[in-house]
Parts: sequence; C-alpha cells; structure tokens
Amino acid sequence: MKLNHDRTYQICQTCIMDTSDPNIKFDEKGICEYCNNFEKVIKPSWHTDTKGEIQLQKLAAKIKKEGKGKDFDCIIGLSGGLDSSYAAHVAVKKMNLRPLLYHVDAGWNTDQAVGNVEKLVDGLGLDLYTDVINWQEMKDLQLAFLKSGIADQDIPQDTAFFSSLYKFARKNRIKYVITGANYSTECCREPEEWGAYPGIDRTLITDIHRKFGNRPLKTFPIVDILIYKIIYQRLLGMQIAKPLNMVPYIKEEAEKELNELYGWQPFQHKHHESRFTRFYEDYWMPRKFGFHKRRAHFSSLIMTNQMTRDEALERISKPEMDEHFLNQEFEYVANKLGISEKKLQQIFDSENKTYRDYKNKRFLIGLGAKAMTILGLEKRLFR
Ligand SMILES: [Zn+2]
Repeated sequence: MKLNHDRTYQICQTCIMDTSDPNIKFDEKGICEYCNNFEKVIKPSWHTDTKGEIQLQKLAAKIKKEGKGKDFDCIIGLSGGLDSSYAAHVAVKKMNLRPLLYHVDAGWNTDQAVGNVEKLVDGLGLDLYTDVINWQEMKDLQLAFLKSGIADQDIPQDTAFFSSLYKFARKNRIKYVITGANYSTECCREPEEWGAYPGIDRTLITDIHRKFGNRPLKTFPIVDILIYKIIYQRLLGMQIAKPLNMVPYIKEEAEKELNELYGWQPFQHKHHESRFTRFYEDYWMPRKFGFHKRRAHFSSLIMTNQMTRDEALERISKPEMDEHFLNQEFEYVANKLGISEKKLQQIFDSENKTYRDYKNKRFLIGLGAKAMTILGLEKRLFR
C-alpha cells in the first residue's frame, strides 16, 4: 500500500472519502468538499419530481422530433450494468423513444452482463448492434497500459466503449446519445489520482502504446476528447442526454424493477459487468496503489441516502470478492492477456507511475473542464 504519508489521516464526518484522495479538503466541521459540493451545487439543480418529469418529457419531444423518419431516434451504449440498463428502460417506457442498443465487446464481459443485455433486448423489443473490438489489439493496448505502471488501467476499455459508440453514431447520423450517467450513484466523482483520467487522450494512449506495445492499432477506435468536443459536439451537434437525473433513481428499487420486468440480474457492485474492471478495482488498485474506488461509489450512495456511513465502513473494510476468488481472477487475467502469472506479478511489483510520466494533453483537457464548470455544465467536483 502506498498512501500519501505527508498529511495526517482524516476521513469525512458525513461520507467515507478520506486522505487517500491526496488533495481532499475538509471544512471546519470535518465535512469534505465532495459533500459540500453535493449540498451546494448538485442538489439544488437536481430534480426528480414533477419538475424532472417536465424536463424529461421536453427532452423526449426534442429527441423524437430529431429522429422523425429515421430508423432510430437515439443510441444507448449498453454494458449490461445497472445504469445503462435502467437508462434503456426509461428511454423506452417513460420517454417512448426508439433507441438502438449498442454494445461494445472488449473481451471481458461477465456471463451475467451478456445475459442482462440479451434480456433487455428481448424485453424491450429493440435492435442490438454489437461491436467486437479486435482482441489482439485490445490485449496489446491493455498490456502496454499495465506495463506503464499508471493507475488509470481502465483507459483502454473506456476508450473502446465510448469511441466505438461515437463513431457509429456519427456514421449513422444519430444525434442523441443516451447515457446512464447519473447523480444518484455517481455524484461523488472519483478523484483523478485514483485512476480516473478525465477523458480520452490520444496523446497519452499513443505514447504509452509506442513505449510498451508490440503491434499496431489498426482498427482500435480512439476518438480524442478534443476531436469529440469540437467536431462531434460543436460541428455535428451530437448531444448527450442523461435521463436518469430526471427520474427517481434509487439503486435497489431500480434493480428490483429491472429484475421483475425483464429478469435482469443485479451485480454485487458497480462495474462488475467487466471481469477486468472488477479485478482492477477490487485487487489491482487497492493493493498496488492504495485507492479504493468503492470509497467514492459508497460515498455517492451515502450522500443520496441509499446507504448509511456505518454500512459503507463495514463494506470497505474488506474486498468485495474473497481472497480465493481474487487469486483465481489474477490467474484468469494473466492467461487472458497471454502472459504468465509470474510476469503479471512482476508488472504488479514494478514502480508506480502517473500520467505525468508520459506525453499527455491533461492541461488542455483541464482548461476545457474548468470552462464546463464555469458554464455550469459540469456540476461534479473538478479540481
Ligand atoms: Zn464527505
């Protein structure tokens, strides 16, 4: 465990965010800036009552108008996880939209994720398009990232998911992208130091792949965040809709509803639809870097009254999966990536780095994000 030892340990009195976020600030009452940001910025602008319903129907009307005469009026990236699944349900049942469901297979789907996608496709009577990422390229990029030693090990999968979807939407002139992004389970943004690099940065990806990769990325989709913001959003008018912020969205109730309606199966924890992400968040990150992404996930649930602080402290005191299971997953990940367990262990034991050790556009991305905050388009805390 490599924690920041420069400051004394402190944990928020309300949520469970603590000094494992090296730049966290607390007020005089010992309440963290995430909680204060939630109360002062997010809560006043977040409406899931009648006001939200009106916003939702306005949004639905706009999307329907845009989609007139087209096969689909919007596209939804479906992982099989709760957020995207519930977004698909809301889009069809509450907004009466005609979405195309889009799934990106990056090689790490759990059986449960695949089952959930199938159940929703059947239950909602929608078309599904699946993009299968070239596994040899995916594997090469993931290995390169692991060897780079940075904490942000989900960049390859996230890049594949979002870039594939954006490219498809652009090619097929679908203007609206519906996402499961939401305040209810994600209002506490993971700090950047915990491997939450803000956006797809081709400069960073290319530099890491050039240094540690072995084969060219010929088909692997990378839509750089600046290209996306300028060309996709500004010039082509692509829009991201987040309907889950306009309806009551309580994790446990949503899981129950999807289960009763479609036979959808809940996951033990957020992001468990990908076998790699589950391993990365439950094993690699806490043990190599000392960061628990669940700390932010649980804190979001505390802020939105879906979990008590005591429950969260209890859950975070041990890994989500048991030791035997995690060791099996270590073996699985090594095999799947085509390396020995010894080699994966060597990578695990090698020096921790950050994106600053590689070429990147973080400064430019930061300027863009600050502008979004000033314009009120990003309400979650961004330092
Ligand atoms: Zn807090």
